[in-house]
Amino acid sequence: MNTTLLITMLFVSILIGLFGLIAFLWGLKTGQFDDEKKFTHGVLFDGPEALKEAIKKQEKKQILERIKQMENIYDIAIIGAGPGGIGAGIEAKKAGFSNFILFEKSPEHSSTIRKFYKDGKRVDKDYKGQIVDFKGNVTFTDTSKEDILGLFDKLLEENQISPKYSTDIEKVEFQNNIFKLSSTNNEVFHARNVIIAIGKMGQPNKPDYKIPPTLLKKVLYNVNQITAGEKVLIVGGGNSAVEYAISLCEETDTTLNYRRKEFARINEVNAKNLQEAMATKLKTKLGVNITHIQDNNGNPEVFYDDGSSEVFDKVVYAIGGAVPLDFLKKCNIQLDEANLPITKDFESSIPNLYVIGDILSKNGASIATALNQAFDTIARIKSKS
Ligand SMILES: Cc1cc2nc3c(=O)[nH]c(=O)nc-3n(C[C@H](O)[C@H](O)[C@H](O)COP(=O)(O)OP(=O)(O)OC[C@H]3O[C@@H](n4cnc5c(N)ncnc54)[C@H](O)[C@@H]3O)c2cc1C
Repeated sequence: MNTTLLITMLFVSILIGLFGLIAFLWGLKTGQFDDEKKFTHGVLFDGPEALKEAIKKQEKKQILERIKQMENIYDIAIIGAGPGGIGAGIEAKKAGFSNFILFEKSPEHSSTIRKFYKDGKRVDKDYKGQIVDFKGNVTFTDTSKEDILGLFDKLLEENQISPKYSTDIEKVEFQNNIFKLSSTNNEVFHARNVIIAIGKMGQPNKPDYKIPPTLLKKVLYNVNQITAGEKVLIVGGGNSAVEYAISLCEETDTTLNYRRKEFARINEVNAKNLQEAMATKLKTKLGVNITHIQDNNGNPEVFYDDGSSEVFDKVVYAIGGAVPLDFLKKCNIQLDEANLPITKDFESSIPNLYVIGDILSKNGASIATALNQAFDTIARIKSKS
């Protein structure tokens, strides 16, 4: 080892030792070693000024958190971006509300229309004979599936409303004078008013008898998976069932089964189209009930109460939707004997919690009805604010 290197190492060692000595003397002088806690917890026991500073910082942090929470309390939270929810959003905007949020559990708005309306379907304004005079800012005349979806796209864009998609709200609780909404993704939101517009078609009605599990892909609740040339049974006697049957019979071997002989609930246009379809391609099985369905070599065999049976490629039940009871119960909303929410002017048994759209009626309502209810509800919220 050469001499220069030895001298450098000696010098560095002395320097380090000197620093250590200075630090030790400073510690002794300032009483840093006086008690064990002060020695080990260092900064906590700095002078009173440092402590005051730390307390100030903590208080500031808490105030900022509280402000952030207050900012996140929406004036209105709307659950469900179907016609009712979209209508409520547009009316809220027009009424001057800007601090509202629209939740939709699907990745796109209007999932009932997208999923249950056949492509090109005619959309009646006065659906099921419900004659509606529009009250609010959203109106339409008889149109098509594609055009009504286009209208909602345009209105959302024009009014700069971006629904919070893929957010499935599972319950609404009233806590400390504010509503707390929880989603299935474990997100939490707060609002002063809540509008429930979740429709009924998230839970389509199913028959009382059991469907064999092997047939779950062949027994359906909409016609999206029907292909040309198949032999199909449509079950139901309302407008939806009749419309499905009329349009499908053009490209499939279609039978319409209804437990009654007459179609009393359908509108005039459907009644006329049904007569024409029955006179040509549409087969019917009317006035008979299905008793059960069996698996026949992978296809559904349908047994009727007149003793007959027939095998189909697919069976489609178009028998309406069920009230989402679990959701309503979790929200603690009072229900009537038919399990429908009890409301007065769309306000539920819980003040400032409103319910609009299909979920309010046993057999479903209509797009125009939902839009009018949205208008009335926002007007009520506005009048209270
Ligand atoms: C086959 C068929 C044909 C029809 N034809 C016509 C017609 O021609 N004319 C007409 O006026 N009406 C028609 N209707 C009825 C019409 O579609 C309904 O009356 C209307 O869609 C009701 O609107 P809504 O907003 O109450 O509910 P929906 O349209 O059902 O919308 C509810 C929305 O809420 C979302 N949602 C549900 N649960 C949650 C949750 N927990 N969190 C977040 N989002 C949620 C759903 O995904 C959905 O997008 C038809 C219905 C069917 C099934």
